[in-house]
Amino acid sequence: MAKKRSNFNSIKISCGARQSSMSSINNNDTLPDYLADIKHRALIKAAIIPFVLVIIFCMSIIGSCQKKDTPKAVEIKKETKVIESTPSKDIQKQEPKKKKEPQGVDLVNPVRPAPESFARNSKLPNMSERDVCGEIVNSTFSPGRDLIYVTDLRVWWESDNDGETDNECDHSMHRAMEIPFRRLVNLVESQTEYQLRVQETYRPEGIHSPKSLHKEGRALDITLGYKNGEKLKTADEMKELYELLCKLAWQAGFDWVFYEYASGTGPHVHVSVKADGPVLQTYGK
Ligand SMILES: [Zn+2]
Repeated sequence: MAKKRSNFNSIKISCGARQSSMSSINNNDTLPDYLADIKHRALIKAAIIPFVLVIIFCMSIIGSCQKKDTPKAVEIKKETKVIESTPSKDIQKQEPKKKKEPQGVDLVNPVRPAPESFARNSKLPNMSERDVCGEIVNSTFSPGRDLIYVTDLRVWWESDNDGETDNECDHSMHRAMEIPFRRLVNLVESQTEYQLRVQETYRPEGIHSPKSLHKEGRALDITLGYKNGEKLKTADEMKELYELLCKLAWQAGFDWVFYEYASGTGPHVHVSVKADGPVLQTYGK
């Protein structure tokens, strides 16, 4: 009987380990040792192989996930680096526009030493205004583009004080006038006890010659007066103080300074600038 069972079981084992292991459940006690050992090994294999397959399957899934995640992580890092180094266009658009303030323009201190004297009807440089500042350039001059409105409470402006006798505006001047003018206002305040008076700036028509730089706002007529708004009272005061004003105007950086002493217009200082001189960025203020 034992021999028959042995043959039967050997046939089953040859058909596969699974069948062998199943048959061993009922017959293990009666099998020979070598068959029991074979069944035992088959049983272990049957238990381990699915476990190994499950582990391999899980590892393959993890590996595939890592392969998918890694490029994304690199892309994110790259994007992060890009954002750190150069802001995107959207960020750049959100940044407020920086105001274009003049860099390194000193409006307080003189830009030249004062001449020792400045006699009536003399000029600096001792050349014609046309040679220094250039001719009037009506063909390229544009009031809307080239003129700016300048004001300062420390200055007496004739057009603000002469009623409505004409339509001039002494606050209108060429943009190249602004730097030396503002510097002159500061120098008059710091070095004198008087007030700068602006008598004439831009005037497109009328009293000036056709080639006058007043027609482009590139010339100013200025004097000094008392801080209460009164004119100087004596000829000696004018002689002394207009000479001082000529010196300060030269130190302020005007391209051409003329101590004009004509009977028709009365003594005053005429200053002018080149059309392409440096400007402050005050457009739109
Ligand atoms: Zn003038």
